[in-house]
Amino acid sequence: MSVTALAPSDAEPDVAELIAARPHLSMNALDGLTLEGVPLNRIADVLGTPAWVYSAGTMRARLAEFTAALAGLDAQVHYAVKANDHLAVLRIFAGAGAGADVVSEGELRRARVAGIAPAHIVFSGVGKTEREIRLALAEGIAQLNVESPAELEMISAIASGMDRVARVALRINPDVDAGTHAKITTGKAENKFGIPYADAAALYAHAAGLPGVEPVGLALHIGSQILSIAPYRAAYGRAAELVRALRAQGNTVTHMDCGGGLGIGYRDDPGASPAAFAGALRAAFGGMDLKLMTEPGRWLVGPAGVLLASVILVKGSERFVVLDAAMNDLVRPAMYDAWHGIVPLAAGNAVGPAGPVDIVGPVCETGDTFARNRMLPALSAGARVAILDAGAYGAVMSSTYNARPQAPIALIDGDRWAVIRDRQLQTELWAGERIPEFLE
Ligand SMILES: *Cc1c(COP(=O)(O)O)cnc(C)c1O
Repeated sequence: MSVTALAPSDAEPDVAELIAARPHLSMNALDGLTLEGVPLNRIADVLGTPAWVYSAGTMRARLAEFTAALAGLDAQVHYAVKANDHLAVLRIFAGAGAGADVVSEGELRRARVAGIAPAHIVFSGVGKTEREIRLALAEGIAQLNVESPAELEMISAIASGMDRVARVALRINPDVDAGTHAKITTGKAENKFGIPYADAAALYAHAAGLPGVEPVGLALHIGSQILSIAPYRAAYGRAAELVRALRAQGNTVTHMDCGGGLGIGYRDDPGASPAAFAGALRAAFGGMDLKLMTEPGRWLVGPAGVLLASVILVKGSERFVVLDAAMNDLVRPAMYDAWHGIVPLAAGNAVGPAGPVDIVGPVCETGDTFARNRMLPALSAGARVAILDAGAYGAVMSSTYNARPQAPIALIDGDRWAVIRDRQLQTELWAGERIPEFLE
């Protein structure tokens, strides 16, 4: 294979560099790629591929690092469930003292089933239904983040009818550009999220006079995969200014929900640092006597998951490596042009001359491509790879497109591992479908 035919546009990390930058991964001569204490081939032997593998130790370590960075602040972590909503993942975070940020009835129910107390749950989202608001109030969750005047009225009416008082925070849109991918930026004026900054003070005062609601503070969330602290500083500065203005007008403001969005290093950048993030919180809200809430999702779980796949065949003068995993499993490359590290499971496949290949899935879409011009040692049919940093927005975004069942999931904790979701059966794919009589 030629190594000069199609060089990548700029140098990408090679297999050794990808592993070196991830403390939970190691390459052992005999056992191959190992996550915590478990060789990934051992799991693939049992589950087949494609299969997801999560690392409990990595999730705990990252939550501990994030929490440690918040030391000295009156701040709580509410894990953003949408990044990875598996019950076992929620149990890990619940066990380590984290609360949850949920955006749907399903996520609220998952958080409760996993053992997260209502007092540690906040509900975000731009279109909560009446049914969802009722459930949140019946459960007695900590806070509803309100995204519009219409939603505020709706919550007031529902809560009054239930003889409850809903603690609400107004989600403001600070009109700050988070400098991230257009599909995951949420804090600019043209995005659908939040209440326009200029309208927030009047709405807060209005909320204070409404039955069934108690405004407790503000919330914001400016986007996802944010790698620079500057947009946080700007957004939090604006929020702090608004809190001061609200208080000056006689309003009570006790809570500030600072959102999530901290990015991870998928390629060769180190990712955002919780310490720097905490610095932005201190700079904006230090000494303001506010209870702070944070909602990290991706940062906690992204690096803690991999997607295992096998090479089905290599075609086109070894140009295309076709995997048995596809965009229906991991949609991020197709949807966000995301870069994911790809590492062979066998030590022998991780060395040798590298050539540029396109790593693709078998789905009938050109977008079903995991990597273009990736410099990898030659891989032949049957070789296994791990697609790295797939713990966030991975399995949760899977579909069954092309009638492909959802892949199984394993969880590693130290040198133990367990299957935490079975591979979906073909028959389960059509279990709820019916052919109507008039077609007989
Ligand atoms: C998605 C989301 C988060 C988490 O975002 P990450 O980028 O995964 O940290 C937090 N809060 C809200 C309101 C969200 O919608």
